[in-house]
Amino acid sequence: MREFDIPLPKGHFIGGTYLEDTEVIDVISPSSGARIGAIPCADASVVDQAVSAARAALSRSNWGGLAPRERLRALHRWADLMEAEVDTLAKLEAICSSRPYAQARAGDVMVTAEQIRFFAEFADKEGGVLVPTADTAFGYIADEPYGVIGAITPWNFPISMAGWKLGPALAAGNAVVIKPSEMTPYTTLYLAELSVRAGIPEGLINVVLGDGPVTGNAITGHPGIDKVSFTGSTRAGGAIMENIARHGIKPMTLELGGKSPMVVFADSDLDLVAECLERGILPNAGQFCVAGSRILVEESVAPVLSEKLAARFATHVPADTMAAEAGFSPIISAKQMNRIDSIVQAACNAGGELICGGSAFDREGSYYRPTLIGNVTETSPAVREEIFGPVATFQTFTTEDEAMALAAHPTYGLAAGLFTKDLSRAMRLTRRLEAGTVWVNRYGRSRDHILPTGGWKASGLGKDLGREAYHANRRTKSVLIDL
Ligand code: NAD
Repeated sequence: MREFDIPLPKGHFIGGTYLEDTEVIDVISPSSGARIGAIPCADASVVDQAVSAARAALSRSNWGGLAPRERLRALHRWADLMEAEVDTLAKLEAICSSRPYAQARAGDVMVTAEQIRFFAEFADKEGGVLVPTADTAFGYIADEPYGVIGAITPWNFPISMAGWKLGPALAAGNAVVIKPSEMTPYTTLYLAELSVRAGIPEGLINVVLGDGPVTGNAITGHPGIDKVSFTGSTRAGGAIMENIARHGIKPMTLELGGKSPMVVFADSDLDLVAECLERGILPNAGQFCVAGSRILVEESVAPVLSEKLAARFATHVPADTMAAEAGFSPIISAKQMNRIDSIVQAACNAGGELICGGSAFDREGSYYRPTLIGNVTETSPAVREEIFGPVATFQTFTTEDEAMALAAHPTYGLAAGLFTKDLSRAMRLTRRLEAGTVWVNRYGRSRDHILPTGGWKASGLGKDLGREAYHANRRTKSVLIDL
């Protein structure tokens, strides 16, 4: 099934309506390599229009000053519509991203609606706090919305990433100008359209389409954007910091890349571990930020575990993302697949042992085999660089200290997994792992929206999800009144 029976949203979405513009960027299906549409690239004047629409909406609707329950109710209505429109949203997600339709339908769309409800509930429950003063004074810490949040999101899990930004920003009383990835623009547009249908004031969510250098820069450098919230690569995060600094200073949240380790001790249940490691690297063909791309195994069980993993890796069958049943995901573009392959080949040429995979599937589109590489050195790009594909390296250790030394990446610190039945070791090593999230005897998020997500070191600044994400969309004001 490749044909789709829904119209693609067209143009930017500003002030509650679509604004058509010259289409200059092709949108490509990773499943077939075919062009499925094209989008415009917003220049500074279009971004300016979106920021003005956001400011006008804030003052017209008094969104940030409404009784919090009104924001809460509007967000729940929006989530209701997402659930009602799950089929359309899942198709729009699967058309251009690497998310299989079936998974987007059962998972991503419904989880995004759930997260919007989760953030809606903060609106009337979190607020400022009184501070102790002498009885001649009255002090409190007010917290207030920023105003207009400039959000920029990546192509992997597009609807989820949009939800992570839009839910807390709106619940906290802000308007948003959001730029989805130029490769996967459609679900963000449709979410914005649904928000208006749900009664969220027009202009509170404005979607501008375009690339990083033109549209992204215009957002992060715009004086009318009060805070930037970005998810994407560490490289682009650095460029955004530079651009913000060039135009002045403003707060930012950056959710960036990773190269996360999964550390396995010999006392673990190896069948459970094999299942967790597979789930830690192969969903979405390894194209997720917390992918466990470095497998570190205690030497005594390494041969058994590598055999179990290779057997599991070999079972994955690629499928068009629009197929009724979910299959193994495509790589987002042919260019990205070539990059993955060149890192794998370089590792093998430098003495790496290909345990399984190591080449593209022989079919149309961009599909790369689940790949495991052993005998790699610490400085190999396969071990150091975020590959963003279904590729894991496989290294061994003999002591806890050696395991921790291997687990520590010189720059990234997004997530880590630890597998052991020894509780005291788990507690001891959880403290030593330098990562924003540590999973023990499991790997990956589920519906645990209360846990904030975000990286240490060059993996990020600030948090998405959790109570932290709500507060990241508000700023405090200390007030002291002499009575
Ligand atoms: P990317 O950095 O290439 O692009 C992300 C977004 O930023 C896109 O919308 C792009 O157009 C825009 N952009 C690029 N350069 C920009 C610039 N200079 N100024 C402003 N905007 C710019 O990333 P990608 O390839 O779309 O996504 C994959 C990356 O995202 C991986 O590194 C992955 O780890 C990361 N990611 C992180 C998280 C997290 O929560 N930490 C979640 C998902 C993805």
